[in-house]
Amino acid sequence: AGIINFCANNYLGLSSHPEVIRAAVEALEKFGAGLSSVRFICGTQSIHKDLEEKIARFHQREDAILYASCFDANAGIFEALLTPEDAVLSDELNHASIIDGIRLCKANKYRYKHMDMQDLEAKLKEAQKHRLRLVATDGAFSMDGDIAPLREICQLAQKYDALVFIDECHATGFLGPSGRGTDELLGVMDKVTIINSTLGKALGGAAGGYTTGPKPLIDLLRQRSRPYLFSNSLPPAVVGCASKALDLLMESNAIAQSMAAKTQRFRSKMAAAGFTISGKDHPICPVMLGDARLASVMAEDMLNRGIYVIGFSYPVVPKGKARIRVQISAVHSDEDIDRCVEAFTEVGRKHGAL
Ligand code: PLP
Repeated sequence: AGIINFCANNYLGLSSHPEVIRAAVEALEKFGAGLSSVRFICGTQSIHKDLEEKIARFHQREDAILYASCFDANAGIFEALLTPEDAVLSDELNHASIIDGIRLCKANKYRYKHMDMQDLEAKLKEAQKHRLRLVATDGAFSMDGDIAPLREICQLAQKYDALVFIDECHATGFLGPSGRGTDELLGVMDKVTIINSTLGKALGGAAGGYTTGPKPLIDLLRQRSRPYLFSNSLPPAVVGCASKALDLLMESNAIAQSMAAKTQRFRSKMAAAGFTISGKDHPICPVMLGDARLASVMAEDMLNRGIYVIGFSYPVVPKGKARIRVQISAVHSDEDIDRCVEAFTEVGRKHGAL
């Protein structure tokens, strides 16, 4: 009772939005609990096709394909798209699911230093000998709340004839003027070829993932992508949630804007209190503490003060870079944010972090 959650990926608060819940109930009643099938046998209903069309429209892409999760979307894309004659260039801090997806493919693998454009350029030069090059990066990185330099990445991709893939799990729905994501924020919507993202964070928070991009690519994934071919269809209730979440976001940008204002409030008040917050303007606000034990005891003490946050330490983040990752949501009130900052200040003083 009275505990406020500051560690969910529920950026826009849509997982408890009454219209999203109602849409899920209606889909459940009208379309059933589940399909007991993969998509290409008897697992495709009108709502699956409608949601794919809506996702493509939201991202201003030609087509989209649904998966049970973004983990699956990442597991399915590289193997389907790339051959041993091709190359994939991946940021060293990419999400585990991108790393695993790349492991599954037979393309030549290059890992460039985190957001280091000189290193990416050097690797792109090296990769000129291959048939096709794909640069793969998170749009926003979940541990640090930092945003990939997509303008520079796209310029390099153009120069060295490469495609760009972004994972938008921590961007879809809220980054950019109308919440389309990192590519919109940085003005490169027409330069990023492939987007993978999740329905399990800002878009209702239930489950599900997708790829959106050129139609021939989506057609290829429907033929070849193993998690799509060999795993059950998304349940109707989940499709209903995500579809309603997208409707709400396409109608108005007000929810995303309110979250951005709250993020700003938290970041500036924490900085004024003397904390170091990694990243910039992103609702992922890592409170950098350094020491693993300090992060853990402070998180425990925060809970005693009614604030639910989690300490992250090695091996989830590098040694000596322990932190408490705070995530701001549109459902937090200004009072909630202020209560969180006050609790951090008290707990930080108590443990010598300030
Ligand atoms: N990619 C990134 C960057 C993530 O943060 C996550 C979830 O933690 C995923 C992919 C996997 O998403 P899902 O939960 O839909 O499988």
